[in-house]
Amino acid sequence: MTEHRRLTGKIVIATHNAGKLREMRELLEPYGIEAVSAGELHLPEPEETGTSFIANALIKARAATQASGLPAFADDSGLCVDALAGDPGIYSARWANGGDFAAAMALVHEKMQQAGAIDQDRGAHFFSALAVTWPDGHEETFEGKVFGQIVWPPRGDKGFGYDPFFLPDGHTLTFGEMTSEEKHGIPADGSEALSHRARAFQMLARACLD
Ligand code: IMP
Repeated sequence: MTEHRRLTGKIVIATHNAGKLREMRELLEPYGIEAVSAGELHLPEPEETGTSFIANALIKARAATQASGLPAFADDSGLCVDALAGDPGIYSARWANGGDFAAAMALVHEKMQQAGAIDQDRGAHFFSALAVTWPDGHEETFEGKVFGQIVWPPRGDKGFGYDPFFLPDGHTLTFGEMTSEEKHGIPADGSEALSHRARAFQMLARACLD
């Protein structure tokens, strides 16, 4: 069994994405972790050359640890559409071409139509991989998923990225219509959180924070 290590003190959140930074800060706050972001430290953004979410999360965390000498926490995530064999997946940010998510959602929708899937198979999931790296080389990784359906047209103006496009199973509101608390809040009673990132975070918290 892997020995888990407790995360304490100051860590770098290895993201330059403001939406993700906000979510990660909110998740770490209750544990008294002082979180600075890679953007605030002006750390260079490594190229995400991995072929899986875990590989890319490790690339980002390792780069931040190497550049800062601090433990670092990174996430890699994306939307995987069943009818598109898991695309856009690790390329979710790239399909938005620098942040145009309306265009990215339209592109996914168009490809689903071409695949004849839009009325048949709207299944999709968000995936989140979290990596924590320490300066002495210790590393831990965690994964979380949330399953649901693609909705068209997208609904809601809360959240970020593909949020308005995704209806989690068992819910009537898309991620874009939910408050951040509904989407990624950690239930106080220990039950499972909703979002992929919050679910991966619950695993991390049990292993490295509690
Ligand atoms: P990366 O993890 O920075 O490589 O990018 C992941 C991309 O996936 C983000 O830019 C978003 O487009 C998308 N994504 C990941 N998590 C979420 C989410 O919770 N809501 C909406 N879009 C997400």
